Amino acid sequence: SVQLYLVPTPIGNLKDITLRAIEVLKSVDVILAEDTRTSGKLLKHLEINRPLQSYHIFNEHKAVEKLVERLKKGEVMALISDAGTPGISDPGFLLVRAAKDAGLEVNCLPGPTAFVPALVNSGLPNDRFTFEGFLPHKKGRQTRIQSLLEESRTMVFYESPHRLMKTLEQFAEAFGPERMASVSRELTKVFEENVRGTLAELIDYYIEHPIKGEIVLVVEGKSEGRSEKREARDEKRESRG
Ligand code: SAM
Repeated sequence: SVQLYLVPTPIGNLKDITLRAIEVLKSVDVILAEDTRTSGKLLKHLEINRPLQSYHIFNEHKAVEKLVERLKKGEVMALISDAGTPGISDPGFLLVRAAKDAGLEVNCLPGPTAFVPALVNSGLPNDRFTFEGFLPHKKGRQTRIQSLLEESRTMVFYESPHRLMKTLEQFAEAFGPERMASVSRELTKVFEENVRGTLAELIDYYIEHPIKGEIVLVVEGKSEGRSEKREARDEKRESRG
């Protein structure tokens, strides 16, 4: 039977909690939460009255060992994060890996996460995509961007409002200002907005409309269009002489 559940919680609209998420959260011995104050409010709203224990990025390495010991002894736990799916740009991975290494049964419920609606609503190809999470803020930032120059899949980034403009400008420089992109902010909330355009258009738009709230940025991959293929062919011909 399942010993550790990963339970997604709403990314804004409280109605996005699933019936099964509520059922599981009501049934476990303890709920591990990133921020017990934030999660306390949600659990109170859902009338879930299970013990809460803090589990966040600052104590993740140290906490994992102790938690696995308790899981082995039979405690059933659910891990939730402040919003969305645990483990997606949130703590969770280390605990899941340790639990699996210890032979414990882990179950992740499907549910809210910000990148799926942002990707699907971007109008950019989503048959193949790469989830990039947060870009490094300083060290390694340009290296990361440069590593994506040849990426042909749609790219999904989490971003903060005060860094969006810098990112759009750096992307315009790296990928070219004509590359298509989409900015989703405040998904599922009152001020949800999805804006699509070229990187240059988005820069102009957000100069006029300074952005607030939570943001997902979706960027088209490098086009493998005919013109580029033709260029490559022509180059080959030229090099052959
Ligand atoms: N675990 C979460 C998930 O499953 O999406 C992500 C947690 S991460 C710490 C927080 C980031 O997710 C935000 O900075 C933003 O980029 C994105 N995000 C979360 N909620 C959002 C929302 N309602 N609208 C747009 N982006 C959101």
